[in-house]
Amino acid sequence: MLSPERSLRLRVDQEALAHNWRGLDTLSGMATAGAAVKANCYGLGVDTCVPTLRDAGCESFFVAHWSEVVALAAHVAPRNIAVLHGPMHDDDVAYAKASGAVPVINSLAQARRWNGAAGGACHLMIDTGINRLGVAPSELSDPAVQALNIDIVMSHLSSADEETATNAKQLQSFRECLRLINFKRASLCNSAGIALGRDYAFDLTRPGIALYGGVPRHELRGTIRQVAHVEVAVIQTRMLNKGDTVGYNAQFVAPWPMPVGTVSLGYADGFLRSRGAGNALLHEGMMLPILGKVSMDMIVVDLSAAPGIIEGDWLQVPFDLPNAAQQSSLSQYELLTVLGSRWG
Ligand SMILES: *Cc1c(COP(=O)(O)O)cnc(C)c1O
Repeated sequence: MLSPERSLRLRVDQEALAHNWRGLDTLSGMATAGAAVKANCYGLGVDTCVPTLRDAGCESFFVAHWSEVVALAAHVAPRNIAVLHGPMHDDDVAYAKASGAVPVINSLAQARRWNGAAGGACHLMIDTGINRLGVAPSELSDPAVQALNIDIVMSHLSSADEETATNAKQLQSFRECLRLINFKRASLCNSAGIALGRDYAFDLTRPGIALYGGVPRHELRGTIRQVAHVEVAVIQTRMLNKGDTVGYNAQFVAPWPMPVGTVSLGYADGFLRSRGAGNALLHEGMMLPILGKVSMDMIVVDLSAAPGIIEGDWLQVPFDLPNAAQQSSLSQYELLTVLGSRWG
């Protein structure tokens, strides 16, 4: 049986997504843009986003976990899927070989595990200063690394969204590393890194957030369009009297009589409390301030500016990521990746 219509909608603008990939690909100069599609395409849905990216021309896809391969493999060839966390167990190696997805080798232990299984082509992550995953530059001469059949050698910038000497330092370190190994393609940039200029682009870039509408550096503003559009239904309206309170812990007290609407959106949907009081939803361009605390499944908005709103009307949730990030204490990344599973 089909479920009835949902009271909250996430629309992914596929045209804008393709536009963003093409724009980032162009900004990458001689390099080609791939796509970070981990965490279900940052919350926006693999089945919606990956075919669009593929049809726009994207050929290299990056996920974090082995468990993310199956969803990707429905749309792209496994050899074009890179798994960033690499083979942590022998089971991962077996899975890589059976599925055809390609591991990113992050340590000497992973290199030995992969070589021990005669793994074949792989990618290599070098740590040039973020200190998360990756072999150290000093480990590149190790026989286990030298024995790898490396397709993409990569490193990751810690502060590409900032003006800091760290970026040039990591670039320099990456360049020195490239002299010590054999590989087919080199890759350093995330979205923000692409804006640092073509010196940073090498052969392949790995944008994520900017594909989905994030603007991590101002240079990208003219290139990137909003991708996620979010609408929620009003599920009840009521009239408050002066002194009535709204929501848990009665944090909003009506200063005068006012119409309010209860909206089908809460923190279980990824609308966290930090996006509550002080922020607003929109109706035909009108701002409807959020009142009181965000509940798990509901928020309440002030309808004074649009008293004609009735149950079943739809409101827009501001999802221009740079603005929404500024108005909550959330990063553009968190605003997307916390989206829950109720969206349809
Ligand atoms: C997530 C990720 C990216 C994409 O980063 P954005 O800042 O979202 O563009 C690129 N490379 C690696 C290794 C990643 O983990």
